[in-house]
Amino acid sequence: MPTYKRAGVEFVRGEGARLWDADGREYLDFFAALGVMNAGHCHPRITEAIRDQAGRLVGVSNLYYSEPGIRLAERLSESSLGGRVFLCNSGAEANECAIKLARKHAHARGVERPEIVVLDGAFHGRTVATLTASPKIARHELFGPLPEGFVAVPRDDPRALEAAVGERTAAIMVEPIQGEAGVHPIPEPVLAAARRACDEAGALLVLDEIQTGMGRTGSLWAWQQGPVRPDVMTAAKALGGGLPVGACVVAGERDGVLEAGEHGSTFAGAPLAASAALATLDVIDDPDVLRGVRELGARFVEALRGLDGVADVRGRGLMLGAELEDGLDAHDVAARALDAGLVINVPAPRILRFLPPLLIGEAEVSEAEAILGDCMPN
Ligand code: PLP
Repeated sequence: MPTYKRAGVEFVRGEGARLWDADGREYLDFFAALGVMNAGHCHPRITEAIRDQAGRLVGVSNLYYSEPGIRLAERLSESSLGGRVFLCNSGAEANECAIKLARKHAHARGVERPEIVVLDGAFHGRTVATLTASPKIARHELFGPLPEGFVAVPRDDPRALEAAVGERTAAIMVEPIQGEAGVHPIPEPVLAAARRACDEAGALLVLDEIQTGMGRTGSLWAWQQGPVRPDVMTAAKALGGGLPVGACVVAGERDGVLEAGEHGSTFAGAPLAASAALATLDVIDDPDVLRGVRELGARFVEALRGLDGVADVRGRGLMLGAELEDGLDAHDVAARALDAGLVINVPAPRILRFLPPLLIGEAEVSEAEAILGDCMPN
């Protein structure tokens, strides 16, 4: 189905932060498959792990044990909230798990019609429930009736958030930085208000780390640099090193963990994908890599601020957005950049988004800066 507007380029090969198209043309990739290839394309360690596992055991059912999935769940738990993990195959699926878990947790408190509070501009996925949790794209007129039990509040208003939380609240679900809305970091007072309101109401704070996680902002998970610790965290995108892996992690041994028969997913945690994820964590969960993300991010922010036509630069680490001045069209800039050999993305009409692989260096940042300088309208 024609569900994507595609640029007229066919990529056939990748290595690190470089891509090559079918005509042999080379590109610098500052999009990383929408924040998936955080370790770069064809990282030798991840490629080797995939090759090795593919030659031994690709899939088994979740009705049996297999080591890579168990090791991955342990590793995700240890690196985040120290609790139980459900493995799955995408971000939307990870958030579906969080929604079910939060609703079950609320029912255990006697709440009959639980509600999940989300922020305007949120993007949590495209399944029917996660779509409903993503107010801007929900499109009732096309996809309704959508499930009840989701309430949206303004993104930057801690009081409005606290006012929306009450007895029926099962969870507040937030991205630490809204990516699809145009790279909007959620202000710390909003996150702190979310934590407070959840504690008072007995609700769960769910952080959607699908785009911000896996080192993207300079720590393995973005919340590790912020003021609050969530009860539930979801991850996907870069987790599988390019293979489809998602995860929902819940802190501790909470009531409301999903039990046998209450949830499942055929492909989830299968050996091949789990081995790729373990190798990806080996590469990314490294203090030197994470420091590099913070340092290069700061350097790239300065470069973006110096470009003509840029009104604002937002984000953290290597998840950055440049808002263009009124009247400028980010799609034009991105199209010119692609012609000049730089892959970037436009999540909103005046926003350029940058999600380069995390192992880039100064040279790649300078190269992107030079190309962008040539592509900005005078
Ligand atoms: N949540 C966030 C913050 C995302 O950025 C995305 C995808 O862009 C999703 C959820 C959905 O992930 P997926 O496309 O893997 O279902």
